[in-house]
Amino acid sequence: MSGYLDSLNQAQREAVEATEGPVLVLAGAGTGKTRVLTTRFAHILLSHKAFPNQILTVTFTNKAAREMRERVGRILGQPAEGLWLGTFHALCARMLRRFADRVGLQSNFSILDSDDQLRLLKQVMETARIDAKRWPPNALMAQIQRWKDKGFMPTEIPAAESSDFANGRAEDLYAAYQARLKALNAVDFGDLLLLCVHLLKTDAEVLATYHKMFRYILVDEYQDTNLVQYYWLRLLAQGHKNICCVGDDDQSIYSWRGAEIENILKFERDFPGAKIVRLEANYRSTAPILTAASHLIAHNEGRLGKTLHSGRNDADGDNVEVVALWDSEEEARMVGSRVESYRRAGESLAEMAILVRAGFQTRAFEERMITLGIPYRIIGGLRFYERAEIRDAIAYLRVLAQPSDDLAFERIVNTPKRGVGESALRLLHEQARADQLSLYAATEKLLQGGGLRGKVRESLRELLSHFTHWRDILGREGHVVALETLLDESGYIDMWKADKSPEAPGRLENLKELVRALADFEALQGFLDHVSLVMENEERDDDAKLSMMTLHGAKGLEFDIVFLPGWEEGVFPNQRALDEGGNKSLEEERRLAYVGITRARRRAIISHAANRRIYANWQSSIPSRFIEELPDHVVTRTGSAAMNQSARLAAPPSFPLQARRVREADIWDTPARPARTDKIPVGARVFHQKFGYGRVIAVDDDRLDIDFETSGEKRVLDRFVERHDV
Ligand code: ATP
Ligand code: MG
Repeated sequence: MSGYLDSLNQAQREAVEATEGPVLVLAGAGTGKTRVLTTRFAHILLSHKAFPNQILTVTFTNKAAREMRERVGRILGQPAEGLWLGTFHALCARMLRRFADRVGLQSNFSILDSDDQLRLLKQVMETARIDAKRWPPNALMAQIQRWKDKGFMPTEIPAAESSDFANGRAEDLYAAYQARLKALNAVDFGDLLLLCVHLLKTDAEVLATYHKMFRYILVDEYQDTNLVQYYWLRLLAQGHKNICCVGDDDQSIYSWRGAEIENILKFERDFPGAKIVRLEANYRSTAPILTAASHLIAHNEGRLGKTLHSGRNDADGDNVEVVALWDSEEEARMVGSRVESYRRAGESLAEMAILVRAGFQTRAFEERMITLGIPYRIIGGLRFYERAEIRDAIAYLRVLAQPSDDLAFERIVNTPKRGVGESALRLLHEQARADQLSLYAATEKLLQGGGLRGKVRESLRELLSHFTHWRDILGREGHVVALETLLDESGYIDMWKADKSPEAPGRLENLKELVRALADFEALQGFLDHVSLVMENEERDDDAKLSMMTLHGAKGLEFDIVFLPGWEEGVFPNQRALDEGGNKSLEEERRLAYVGITRARRRAIISHAANRRIYANWQSSIPSRFIEELPDHVVTRTGSAAMNQSARLAAPPSFPLQARRVREADIWDTPARPARTDKIPVGARVFHQKFGYGRVIAVDDDRLDIDFETSGEKRVLDRFVERHDV
């Protein structure tokens, strides 16, 4: 019966068997933290300390929850049902549904997505007569989210956390927004935790119910919890105090979402006498991989620090590889042919993964895998050509190529919003049906005949004349320029630039990548055909597939063979981290690199390209500093790119050179922001997209030290802030 304990080492076993009282397992990647949690779960059940529904288990993703359920099922020898096992959000939703009436909701409340949230907030601002041009709703949404991440209800915001948005009215707007949500019997994502904490804090009966119920609490990836999540755990754990958290400060990669590494330190304070267990044997990776990762992370200063040695028997293993390549296409070819040869050598595709820093990077690898017929899947996201912004852009191109493409026309006619709503669209449809015309032609006809009025007429007239103009550019300057122009002039890029949600920068990067992809084709039609073929390429789901995902999405997972492409300055570490200056974001990037390398069991292949295409041009790039930080004795460096400077001058001969209009301003804004022309003085009040409002406390050329209201002192480049006092 106790066989399951035999597969643990001494320290792991201690952590599993110390079921009573608070336990904190602080240990490096691959040391079996998740295994400890799973086994602890089984141990509690098998030693009859609790029933399955008396254990509360928190995982970071739904995927991790599924895996944990399977692992527990395997140990128990039967499927585990009815468990309180899931993400913070899922668990909170379940609690709230049960006690909805106590927070003024009905149990069938709906959970709004981010579009709905923003729409609602805009309405609230309109009612309050706040000028949305001057005070962007997105900024308020972000502020509200930050408050929620810290567990503040509208009436609970301390002075130090207040905001100057709309001349200090943010808190009232927040309250009004919450009231609207309640009236709609709805919550937003942040509310799930916020309301749950509020409920537990204010309703002794509910708290007592859950104290009685949850005899044991288990938490994975503890380093990435934010404050409100921490409060939730603390409230629940105060019953039996049997809480076990496992985490690794070196893998804390969500500070941009409000995660607080200090929660680890708080644990010891809030749960005095907590047993601290350290695990030092890594069972996942071979020694060279482990050594490389440990050396890399040692470059971070802000660490709790710990030692790690290999617990595997096959301790030698192959060196970590660093492959230098000529350009990103050669990089994709290298990865593709490696995947093929590993597969021929008997490795399973399911045990290989490509981990990228940013979503746009998957495009090149997706195309390569399609060409080679290698099945792949994107974890935690969509395939490149299925992403909403890419579909929108392609819909524009389809209308450009063929005005009678009704589906495409319908997709973009009101994207970005131009006031062409349902009723206007109905009119277009009626006209089209009556005259057997395409929607595009019907629109033309209605415009000529005066069948449209007001704003709708204005917008459609403008849209059609834009299309005429873009078609002209397509003929004269080619498809790449046409795409860039239409993305710009249609307002589509601006739409995403104005969007302050965390996904927006990624969408802009995807659009840039689309421009690069288009440059590979001689003509627009060829590209559109290619896209339809790529989209066709859906295989059966049960086959073993190669995985692609972002490094953030790879947390907690492991694969035999891991490809880590694009290790170049500006890609990884990414440009934003470089622009911000200072060590904090850079250290978070390095932790991400550490997460990446430690996903590999047997092989880690890092690569970087000497040349990357920026739109239709080539630019040389320099290898990531993280590559320099890897220790030579466990790394093999190879590659075709002779890294001499002359390399950058020649573009590959097959590349179709575009006649390009020189654009006055870069439509993409990032990464290269123009330098500021005005100087910002000490004392000025400024707004930064990521950190919010703050006051300048020192100026050093174009670098500003700013005391941000919600995130404290930071050093940023002046071009990333807007003045808010003039
Ligand atoms: P991460 O920090 O990446 O989340 P982790 O600490 O949660 O890693 P696990 O995923 O639990 O680590 O374990 C890593 C690998 O090592 C898994 O394949 C696991 O099955 C294996 N492993 C863990 N402990 C042992 C052990 N005592 N003996 C053999 N293999 C082990
Ligand atoms: Mg884990």
